[in-house]
Parts: sequence; C-alpha cells; structure tokens
Amino acid sequence: MNEAAPDPNQALADLLADHWAVRGRLSRLPGENLNLKVEAPGADHVLKVSSDPEAAISLEERVLSRLRAAGLPVPETIPTRSGEQVVETRIEGGPASARLQSFLPGHQWRELGSTPERLEAVGGLIADLHEALRGFAEDEPEADRSHAWDLARAGRYRTDVPLVGDRARRRDLEACLHLLQAEGVPALEHAPRGMLHGDLNDENILFEGDRIVGVVDLGDCQAGALVQDLAISISYALQSPGIDLEDVAVLVAAYDRRRRLEPAEERALFPLVLGRLACSALIGVRRRREHGSHETWFSHETTTLETIERAIQSTPEDARRRLFSECRTPPPEPDTDALFRRRERLIGPSLSLSYRRPLHVTRGRGQHLFDSDGRPYLDLVNNVCHVGHCHPRVVEAITAQAAVLNTNTRYLHENLAALADRLTATLPDGLDCCFFVNSGSEANELALRLARAATGANDALVVDGAYHGSTGNCVAMSPYKFDGPGGSGAPDWVHVVPIPDGYRGEIRGHDEGVGAGYALEVGRVIGEACARGRSIAGFFVEPILSCGGQVPLPPGYLAAAFEQVRKAGGLAIADEVQVGFGRVGDAFWGFQQHDVTPDIVVMGKPIGNGHPLGAVVTTRAIAEAFDNGMEFFSTFGGNPVSCACGLAVLDVIESEGLQERAKALGGHFLAGLRELMARHDLIGDVRGSGLFLGIELVRDRSTLEPADTEASAIVNAMRERGILLSTDGPLHNVIKIKPPMVLDEGDVDMAARQLDEVLSEPNAVV
Ligand code: PMP
Repeated sequence: MNEAAPDPNQALADLLADHWAVRGRLSRLPGENLNLKVEAPGADHVLKVSSDPEAAISLEERVLSRLRAAGLPVPETIPTRSGEQVVETRIEGGPASARLQSFLPGHQWRELGSTPERLEAVGGLIADLHEALRGFAEDEPEADRSHAWDLARAGRYRTDVPLVGDRARRRDLEACLHLLQAEGVPALEHAPRGMLHGDLNDENILFEGDRIVGVVDLGDCQAGALVQDLAISISYALQSPGIDLEDVAVLVAAYDRRRRLEPAEERALFPLVLGRLACSALIGVRRRREHGSHETWFSHETTTLETIERAIQSTPEDARRRLFSECRTPPPEPDTDALFRRRERLIGPSLSLSYRRPLHVTRGRGQHLFDSDGRPYLDLVNNVCHVGHCHPRVVEAITAQAAVLNTNTRYLHENLAALADRLTATLPDGLDCCFFVNSGSEANELALRLARAATGANDALVVDGAYHGSTGNCVAMSPYKFDGPGGSGAPDWVHVVPIPDGYRGEIRGHDEGVGAGYALEVGRVIGEACARGRSIAGFFVEPILSCGGQVPLPPGYLAAAFEQVRKAGGLAIADEVQVGFGRVGDAFWGFQQHDVTPDIVVMGKPIGNGHPLGAVVTTRAIAEAFDNGMEFFSTFGGNPVSCACGLAVLDVIESEGLQERAKALGGHFLAGLRELMARHDLIGDVRGSGLFLGIELVRDRSTLEPADTEASAIVNAMRERGILLSTDGPLHNVIKIKPPMVLDEGDVDMAARQLDEVLSEPNAVV
C-alpha cells in the first residue's frame, strides 16, 4: 500500500508554529494564489505561499512598506521569530516561500456591490496609491516586469479566441482585443508611467460601509502606464449589477481631480477596460480547458462575458464621453449622414465611396484607421501609406521642411538631389536620371512622352485589365477603364496583350512554359500592330498586375516580353506605382523579381506615404532624347517638402526593415490563406508576393465561375468586423491585400481568423 500523502495544511500549520509560533485554523481564501486565512486566538492572519522568485516577493514587500508608510490600508507583514519576512518552503514538490500578513477586516467590494460612494472611493484610492508610489519604479529595475495579466500585453490572447464555442462571443472578444491593440496599447506609449498595483479587482479592495479599509494582493505590481490600474478597477465595477459606463464616471472623476488624466489616457481607458475583460475571459477559457473544470480563481466568468457583451455595444467615442461625463465637456457628435449629403451635393458624382455603409474616417496611425466613432480598422488595402498612416518621422519631415521653405525646382535645393541620389541607388546601374511629379498618372504621362521622344514611335502596349492613371493618355492606356463602364475601347495607338494569368487565362499553370507562351502573345500583338503600320514606343507593365486581379507574372514572362518589345524598337516601362518600395518582399522593386532591367521606372503612391509625389527614373540617354528644347517643368513636382517626405519614407523603410518584414509577413499571410483555401471551396486561388496578395473567389473550382457578389459581401462583412479590404480584377472576384507594411503577425492572424469566421457564417456570403 502507498503511504498516505502528507496533509499540505498540516505541513503549513507546522511551518506557522515553527517560524511564527502561531497556531490556528487554516482555510484557503478564494483567488488564483495559495492564500490561507489563519484564524488564531487574538488575531487573524493570512499565510501567503507562493512560488514566485525571491526578487518578486521582495519587490512586493518594498511596495507594501511604501504604501504602509503613506498610511494606506495594506496588510502588515509579520516577521518570524528570528526576524525574517520570508520563509523558504515547498509546494507541489517545488520551492516556495511563505509570508505571514495581518488579516484585514472588511468586506470585499464584490460582496457589497457598487454604489456611487464606493466607486468614488475606488477612484480616490487609486490616486492615493499612485501618489504614494510616485518615483518608486524609477529606482527599481525589478519593477519592469510582466506577467500573465499584464494589460499592455493582453493582445497575445487573441490567438485563443477560437477556443470559445459561441460565435457571437468570439466576435465580441476579437473586437475588444482589436481595440486594445489598435488604440489602447499605442496610447500607453504616451501615457504617464509609474508603479501599478496591477490587480485592483473587486476582491482586492475591502470596504466597511462606503469606506475603504483594505487593499490586498500586490502580487501583480509592476511598472506601467498608470491608467492601467483605473482600467482594471473599472472592468470589475462594470460587472456590478446595474452599473454602466456613465455610473463609473464618478470613479474616473475622483481620480481625475487628484491627477488630471492626459489625452492619451482618455483615449486608452475604454480599450484597456475591454482588453482586461477579454483577457480575463480568455485566460479563463484556456485554463478551464487545461484543468478540465471551473477553478476557484475564475469566479467572474459569467459576469465577464455579460459585461463584454454590453460594453462592446458602445462605440469607443461614446464610451469615452460616458466615462468622462463627470469631468469633461463632451465633444460634439459627428453627423456622418449630413457629411454624406454635403459630399453628394458638392463633389462630382463619378467618384464612388467604398463599402455599403460608407466609412467616415477621422484618424490614422500605423496599420490602423479610425472612424468618427473611434472604431479601429485594420487597414489591409491602403498601400499608399506604405510605412504606416501618419508615420511620425514622415510627418516630422514634412512639417519641418514646410516651416522653412517650399518652392519649385528651378532653384538649387539639397533635398531634390538627395532624393534622386537615394532613389537611383536602389535601381540597377544605368537608371540614374530622375524626374519628379505629383502623381502616378503624371509619372505615366511623362513616361509615355519619354518613350515617344526616345523611340520616335507613337504607340503603347499595355496588359489587359491594367490601370495606369486618370489623365487623358493614362485612361487611354488603361483597359480597366476603356473596356469598363463608360469606356469606348482602346484608341488606335494602344495595343492590348492578354493578362498572363496562370489561374484563369488562356494558358494555365505557373512554370516557365506559361511565361514563354504569354510572351509569344506579346510578340503576336506587336506583329499585328506593326503589320497595320503602327510603331511601338513602349510597353507599360506592372511587375505584379494590380487592377488586373493581383496576378503575379509567370516566370520568364517579363524577360521574354521585354525582348519582343525592344526588338520592335520600343522601351520597357515598369509601372511600380503599386508594388515598388520593398512591398514584394524579396526585392525592392517588383521587376527585380524577374531579373530584368526596364528602360523607365514609374513610381507613385508609396513614394510619399500619402503626400502627393511621383517620379520617373530612366537612363541619361533617354532623358537626353527628350531634351529637345522644350522644357519639362512640374510646378509642385520635386519641391523641397515633397522631397523631404520621400527621403523620410526611404529612411523608414530601411531603418524599420520593412522589406524584410513584407517578406516574412507575406509568407505567413499566404500560408494562412492557403489553410483557409483548404477548408473553404469558395477560395479558388491565393497568390502574390510579400504584402501584395490576392484571394480569387469562385463558385465552382472546375468552371471558375467568378464569385463577385460573394467577394463584395465578404469585403463588407469584414469591414463590419474592423478589417478593410477591397475587390479587384476584371471579374470583381479578387479580394486584394496590400496593407501598410508596419502591420504585425498578430494582425495577420486576426485577419485570417476573421475571414474564416465570415466564410463560415451561414448567411453572410450570398
Ligand atoms: N499606375 C498604377 C499601377 C496605379 O495603380 C495607379 C493608381 N491606382 C496609377 C498608376 C495612377 O496613380 P495616381 O492615382 O497617383 O495618379
């Protein structure tokens, strides 16, 4: 027979007797940690047994003594007979330490519920704590630590959302953690820091009536943004029956009277509240899964989930108004409908709005856009803001230069030469002569003029489905427009070659043979044009087709096509407006993936990160052929502000390693999408390179019937889940992905999870 396992309580009772000469009845207190109430004659105590490292315990003790000295109602630590604060012991076979503290009287806030008086007291208490701990964290390297409940890192629990069985709950949890990541965590960087209690929940604050008589459990104390403590308490206050955001305003105001909350903290508060609630729910779900049963420490499961369901109904801006209603005058509410009507009245009607429910965006940061309600959107479609919306270095470069000088390029200026130097350094030798303009269209117009001047020929060759810009000649070179609604076909000087689409084109597959086959088509179109007496000035081509449906060119195609074009006397023109500047991942320029060197490179969109800038880079010989006496001058092109902006963009791409990031994240994204394709028949193909990807939707994988309405429904459903995508391709059935390159793996995984949800929804995809 096995020996009976030793009674753990007996071992602890012996420890108490040996070291503290205390004898009493032991009972475990609720909570995650092993805390035992010791009912002893004379006074009650709490025996705290923990496997935390010694450094953590001694940090906690130093915080406690600081708080005690400031008169806060924290427990006394009772020294052993030999004067020690901590005794080494063992729990569950591992080393542990034991401490004895005085037992504080009072009732848990949770038991008593929240009255306005109690909420006000909690706000005041948090202010007292922060005041008492002012300056503490600076001298304590140990304070810079993290733990499972660290709110600044709660976004990591997003990957556990699929463990939740209920579809609506999963959606709510994603929304909470999306807001935390997009708004809460970035705001923390600008928020005042200090030493936090770290776990001011409704079991750790003790009341006698409306008066706080105890604050316990400093085991999660850490340095952090002070607003985190407020958020944690509020997340529990909201779990009290009948308490809503406006009721908590007294707590916020009580704190704010003592230390005025800064704008970054105001912005962060609600996202942090939701973040804490979601973090509690997901830690609970995972632990229950691992331990197989409800654990005593997850006592808030039902109320947490109910509170999330209620709180997430409020928009972030509305929540902010309600939380701060006792201490701030509310900003006016935006009238999106009125704005829509004004736009309809004042703006040309040929301009459309994205999404069934138009999006009123008011702010952008990094990979996120925010609407007028404060809702965050993960931007997976705006490749213009290449290094992230409002990148501080780009904003700084623009504003600093705008404050000093902005003029045209008929004067000497360092910025013009510097940007030309930097751009040509990224290109193959020979491409060393720059022109600066204001847009991709203007750049393509100029490229056409350069090609005509250098070749003496007139015509352009373009790929079917392509878009090269909005000006007269650019529309004439854009099958996407002239063969679309309102278009009247190709003019006589434009010749269209088939889309080299290995998925649904004439020739299918992805090998060299396919590339060669489509290149022969280029030869055929040139031949037919020449037979009609036409001459080719240039072939405009994107290294990955964008409007054509996010189609990567088959291997060998570009080299062979360029050869055909050059044989006919034309120039090879790479339109890098969409894919340039490191987006494709394994090269800085898209054409470099195909081992070719164009004669002209056209740049736009990402070059200015949203600032209107475009460029054309060519060879000196071509530029000289264009120099026939007629000056080329673009009033705004290449001005000192635009060039400062372009330089900052290049700096950021380099210093933040964005090309490498595009490569790594693009691979991760593609793998996730392929996994979805294996489970959802609607996805016929996923493709692309780096952060330039496409998902082609089909109703039937054998007929390739395009699923255009489905694509549009998915894009709209994703928008409602806070993710921006759009459709493209001649058949409108390709979802395109081309985000600012600063997103992270968490964003990619979230997007894949949400797409999975939308694709699985019974009626979402019609
Ligand atoms: N070329 C390509 C490949 C484009 O996608 C675009 C814009 N969508 C342009 C040129 C025209 O650029 P912009 O709108 O800046 O004139």
